Amino acid sequence: MKDVRAKKHLGQHFLNDLRIASDITTLLSENTKNVIEIGPGMGILTQFLLKKNYKTQVVEIDRESVSYLRRNYPNLNIHDGDFLKINLKEKYPFSFALIGNFPYNISSQILFKVFENKDQIPEIVGMFQKEVAERIVCKKGKKKGILSVLLQVFYDIEYCFTVNEDVFIPPPKVKSGVIKLTRNNREHLPVDEKKFKQIVKAAFNQKRKTLRNSLKAFELINKQKITDLLNLRAEQLSVDNFITLTDHVR
Ligand code: SAH
Repeated sequence: MKDVRAKKHLGQHFLNDLRIASDITTLLSENTKNVIEIGPGMGILTQFLLKKNYKTQVVEIDRESVSYLRRNYPNLNIHDGDFLKINLKEKYPFSFALIGNFPYNISSQILFKVFENKDQIPEIVGMFQKEVAERIVCKKGKKKGILSVLLQVFYDIEYCFTVNEDVFIPPPKVKSGVIKLTRNNREHLPVDEKKFKQIVKAAFNQKRKTLRNSLKAFELINKQKITDLLNLRAEQLSVDNFITLTDHVR
């Protein structure tokens, strides 16, 4: 591996285990054609994507990594910039799988972007901080959060495997978890999506309170039909419960 001093502010922890890199890319489903990789670094995942003949495009913000990639993968389509700033519908106007050993400092922002562009992204395979991965997968209980609910509405989510600190250069402080999200059949919510998002956010922003209290700012209609739900806390609600709640907001 090339000697590159990792840049902490860019969340750089380079994977240094080919077996794990191969295992991650193998999680992409058979019928995948287009793949976009966020933060390829020195291309440890990328090389497998290319070997498997996916139409691969990568987005990398770090100049040094970009020039390394240009030298070593002259045919690779590289976007030199910040993934969060890309208008995906304009730049990549097609359906693609998203993959990456994601920069951990922006993992939530990446996932919110996935949510906003879900109709273009049938699949995500990625490595996150283990704790974040567990939160996304969590269906009920303490680890559940805003992103768990939003993503679980539109994706089936699977925890694939845990990766130890020592296979990275430099090693991160925490373990990592690989998850796979597969778009489900739900085309859109039966309620207003913006309202739904607001409700989910409000509920989790004051997650210790019952919904009756955390949703005080909203005007609820037919309250008597949802008294049971209002006595619960955010983490106790299923996706369908949140839909019901949204349905009762004016
Ligand atoms: N995939 C490589 C590198 C992982 S480290 C490996 O597994 O070894 C995370 C990578 O994301 C780094 O290369 C970092 O430069 C890049 N990165 C960080 N923020 C980014 C952003 N906003 N947009 C695109 N790439 C980013």
